[in-house]
Amino acid sequence: MAPDYSTIQGMLERGNIVRNGHFAFRSGAHATTLVDRDLLLADPGTASRLGYQISKIFFTDQVDTVATPSIWGAGLAQWVGYFLEPRANVADATLVGSELSIASKVVPLLQDKRVLLVDNMVLSGKTIGRFLHVIRELNAVPVGIATPWSAGQDEIGGIPVSSLLNELYPAHDAADCPACDQGLPIEHVPY
Ligand SMILES: [Zn+2]
Repeated sequence: MAPDYSTIQGMLERGNIVRNGHFAFRSGAHATTLVDRDLLLADPGTASRLGYQISKIFFTDQVDTVATPSIWGAGLAQWVGYFLEPRANVADATLVGSELSIASKVVPLLQDKRVLLVDNMVLSGKTIGRFLHVIRELNAVPVGIATPWSAGQDEIGGIPVSSLLNELYPAHDAADCPACDQGLPIEHVPY
């Protein structure tokens, strides 16, 4: 089911969440529209709309638990879990040192469950890749990876990545970036 892009686009533009230019991310991806990571989920109306659209993609996947590896993803995961039918549980990992850790009381929500991985953005893909490893060690079945915007990965660790806004605001490899072709000055994004 195609997301309702016009509504989402309007919300993002009114909230000054997107900005046009020529952007380079730390992962090396380029884009001509920057989706602002800090503002993306700051408005609950926009966050709920993004969560609803992600939940729609996975309506028939029998998701038991929506899991996220970051505090930024946690707000989105709540909405996705809320809109799934039946509602899914939400499991947040916390970063302890450089390790993703799952609280012991949360482990049963993941063990042998069908799990949808969600994050606010997927940039290098390293965090989601590590999180995938953690949930696979708990014998969870990953049903998908979903994010509002990614650097353009089709899959991570063999699991498809659904990037809601990439059709509106695509990511490019530097090698085939239209703004690079035009020689437009680059703004380096700190993430
Ligand atoms: Zn470029």
